[in-house]
Amino acid sequence: MACGWPGGAVQPESWAAITTADSAKAALTNRIRKECRAMRSPGEAKRAERSEPSRASKSTPEDGDARKSTLSPGTLVVVSTPIGNLDDFTGRAVDCLIDAAVVACEDTRVTAKLLSAYSIHTPMVAYHEHNAARVRPQLIERLKQGQIVALVSDAGTPLISDPGYKLVEAAIAENIPVTAAPGASALLTALVLSGLPSDKFLFAGFLPPKGPARRTEIRALSSVPATLIFYEAPQRITKVLADLLSVLGPRPAAVARELTKRFEEVRRGTLDILAAHYEAADQPKGEIVILVGPPGTGRDSGQMTDRDIDSALEKALATNSVREAASIVAAETGLPRRTVYARALKLRGNPDEV
Ligand code: SAM
Repeated sequence: MACGWPGGAVQPESWAAITTADSAKAALTNRIRKECRAMRSPGEAKRAERSEPSRASKSTPEDGDARKSTLSPGTLVVVSTPIGNLDDFTGRAVDCLIDAAVVACEDTRVTAKLLSAYSIHTPMVAYHEHNAARVRPQLIERLKQGQIVALVSDAGTPLISDPGYKLVEAAIAENIPVTAAPGASALLTALVLSGLPSDKFLFAGFLPPKGPARRTEIRALSSVPATLIFYEAPQRITKVLADLLSVLGPRPAAVARELTKRFEEVRRGTLDILAAHYEAADQPKGEIVILVGPPGTGRDSGQMTDRDIDSALEKALATNSVREAASIVAAETGLPRRTVYARALKLRGNPDEV
């Protein structure tokens, strides 16, 4: 028996037989996986169908199986999950979870829903801040035995304000292969929608919940020449915006809420306008990201007169030391801190300390 080969070449019988057997196996595997996905609701079946072409395009005559695991045995794979819209789950992420021996997840109840939506039956193990020290060595042991371990968090990309950093660190220390199935993350989604400079940005995670510690941290970030990105809880938005305004001045900013979900909203404006809006409005619902433009992008930057600078300094000096006031106004205006400090000393009546 001979079999046609792309390009018209004819293969030796034994090779052809092997190839035929391999392709049949591959086709069967593909069909089982496809059917497994199609058993879900029509929406889910559609999702499965939609993801077929990308997998098919990975197929080569050599490997035959378009969905053969691309993960080597004993790999830790960090898998991103949607931040609100289930359709943002990638085909590769689904494959990684199917191919894994175990899925390490923050909350098994949350991940169970996702796995069930995709008919993925891989066992789960809880991995969160309260049990990480005990479970991490067990996961490392599984990896050393050649099992594929997938790491997910409740939503978005693991390690980004979520557990996982120490597991990845431990795997690297043990020379265990680590890879990622990238996908959604609220910080990048918010950044690209904010209208703020995206060439340089600093993700600062969650700010401290208490005012004084929060303001200290904002002050430490005030001269960073990049867009600042913060995760925040909706019940703190008014206080956080007020603190950002008091330390950074009226820089351009954005509040991104419920990204990728039905009530997605991005509110843009300077910090004073946003702070006033949320002060007057009801507490926003859902999840939020706050973004603030770099120093020197404030409303009046570049056009500030000496009088404007002095008036900003007077305001800052009312509640801050000379040093702090200078940092605040320098951050707000983008002017060199040294120049502002000199003006602040002058205002305080001791210009010789410069
Ligand atoms: N690992 C996640 C990621 O990659 O974005 C973040 C997890 S962190 C525990 C949760 C925070 O992310 C929320 O408090 C919120 O600030 C932000 N967040 C997550 N999903 C969001 C969404 N759909 N819209 C806006 N912010 C979101």
